[in-house]
Amino acid sequence: MPTDLDLIVIGAGIAGASAAARLAENRKLVVLEMEERPGYHSTGRSAATYEPNYGPPSIRALTRAGRSFFEAPPDGFASAPLISPRPTIFVVPDHQEEQGAALMKSSTDLEEISVAEARRHFPALKESYARHAMLDASTADIDVDLLHQGFLRRIKALGGEVVCRAPVDSLARQDGAWQVTTPAGKFSAPIIVNAAGAWGDEIARRAGVRPQGLQPKRRSMAVVPAPEGMNFMGWSFVGDVGETWYAKPSGGRLLVSPAEAEPVEPHDAFADDLTLAEGIARFEEAIDIPVTRLDGSWGGLRSFVPDGNPVCGYDAEAEGFFWLIGQGGYGIQTSPALGDLAASLVRQEAVPAYIEREGLELSDIAPGRPI
Ligand SMILES: Cc1cc2nc3c(=O)[nH]c(=O)nc-3n(C[C@H](O)[C@H](O)[C@H](O)COP(=O)(O)OP(=O)(O)OC[C@H]3O[C@@H](n4cnc5c(N)ncnc54)[C@H](O)[C@@H]3O)c2cc1C
Repeated sequence: MPTDLDLIVIGAGIAGASAAARLAENRKLVVLEMEERPGYHSTGRSAATYEPNYGPPSIRALTRAGRSFFEAPPDGFASAPLISPRPTIFVVPDHQEEQGAALMKSSTDLEEISVAEARRHFPALKESYARHAMLDASTADIDVDLLHQGFLRRIKALGGEVVCRAPVDSLARQDGAWQVTTPAGKFSAPIIVNAAGAWGDEIARRAGVRPQGLQPKRRSMAVVPAPEGMNFMGWSFVGDVGETWYAKPSGGRLLVSPAEAEPVEPHDAFADDLTLAEGIARFEEAIDIPVTRLDGSWGGLRSFVPDGNPVCGYDAEAEGFFWLIGQGGYGIQTSPALGDLAASLVRQEAVPAYIEREGLELSDIAPGRPI
């Protein structure tokens, strides 16, 4: 077992990996992951989209701040581009006019467009579905695996260690350090970074720390084969503005989500068949692509605390217990900036200037804030 650890990160998803990649620059650390490989849970199950006009202000600030990393990662971080542009079309059916107006008001660089214009981006959109739409030209596909592997490689290159098949069973504070027990061995360090995704509150309970009210919510995804002769890879991301379905081209097929947010316990999530069928019916109301079979499906967890902001910072009551949870549906797009911010706060340094410039309020993401 490594000795003299400065800190232990729990969870090797995108949150734990992005923070550890920064912390390993000047801290001795291990990342403990309960599964056989990092990325098995939420990180490996996302829609892989970068959307700066999605989520509460803290999320938007972190997403904007991370754009430069996506566009120009450090030398050697990735062998191919981390993002590739794919515009988004938010379609506004009559009964969602209010949501359309709210999104327009809260967003930057959204352009109101006609359905005819929307159909130039997504030709299978039915003319009768809505009277107008909105175009966000700033969105992109993220290569999540490339990003995640980049962070993991960096941890190892800097001397950090990622230990898989190491579920944290118990944690206790003793003699100024956290004693962590896993089937892969015992670890000890003065600081713990809790990046356990949907299990974040569970880790706190095991440590005797007050939970943050984290609620995992299931979201399902269907993989729809391309109809004969149709090449939609260059089409946009498309969804209704009320977020009751969305679709995007990926790997020669179409991903279609019912966009549900079903509260569940933390678990190895899978798609719900009935929810998928209902979501596909909503998709078919809008899109002229009949779904006759699926090539696959999956489910994943998006975990939120009640105000929808992430939780990032030291616990006020439990010494050396650092929270990095509640990334909801935005944990990939926020990871470069949130990982960097978390590392700065763990080291008790100031918020990096490029994040502060985007208007992030630390009080919005502080653990134990009034919600
Ligand atoms: C369908 C879907 C679509 C999404 N689309 C997008 C999108 O387009 N863009 C975007 O930015 N985000 C998206 N998200 C959200 C994004 O996937 C998550 O916010 C992000 O992956 C969370 O990362 P994480 O590291 O916190 O969680 P995880 O990836 O779940 O990692 C947490 C890790 O902790 C480990 N762990 C848990 N308990 C223990 C323990 N006791 N001991 C050791 N390890 C433990 C788990 O095994 C897991 O690997 C989507 C999510 C879903 C489900």
